[in-house]
Amino acid sequence: MIIAVDGPAASGKGTIARAIAAHFGLPLLDTGLLYRAVGMATVRAGGDPDVEDDALKACQFDNAALADPALRSEAAGGLASRVSVHPKVRAALLKRQRDFAGQPGGAVLDGRDIGTVIVPSADAKLYVTASAEVRARRRQLEDYDRDYPAILAEILARDERDASRADAPMRRADDADLLDTSDLSVDDAVQRAIAIVEARLRR
Ligand code: C5P
Repeated sequence: MIIAVDGPAASGKGTIARAIAAHFGLPLLDTGLLYRAVGMATVRAGGDPDVEDDALKACQFDNAALADPALRSEAAGGLASRVSVHPKVRAALLKRQRDFAGQPGGAVLDGRDIGTVIVPSADAKLYVTASAEVRARRRQLEDYDRDYPAILAEILARDERDASRADAPMRRADDADLLDTSDLSVDDAVQRAIAIVEARLRR
């Protein structure tokens, strides 16, 4: 059983994907971490994240690199969004994601293009979203040092870049169920997500 969870930054998709994976006893791959690892490795090697071949050189890393706490920073998220526009980078990360999805028993993957490109045949697809304002407030609660307008601008810029790129843009798959978490508590969002997936799997 393969479950795809897509959506923009700070929509709650990471928390929801973790809860779904625990509920169904499936392994989870946070695919954003792959792009974050490429972005950070590109810069650490002295490369330019906007230059496709620089970013491509940083695509060979082993999974241990994904545990680096620096990958969780907003800076790493911004770098990820820049390297993720390059088709060669997306192609280099494709097999790793499909292999993970294809393991016996299945898996949960969360990202931007899981339901549309990586595993279009997923058994259940969830597109998790929330208004940009709510997502910026959530980010601010995690980082009191940053002011709201700057965080909101960053979220809007990342949405725009992710949704407008030519290769595998962020979008809801036609057959994905939509979950808007703007007005939901974390617990309610998780419960609703699990109910949606269970209903989908019964169909
Ligand atoms: O989900 P997360 O915020 O960690 O993703 C970081 C960035 O990586 C996203 O803004 C997006 O540009 C890119 N990404 C992607 N495709 C995915 C997952 C992430 O392009 N499947």
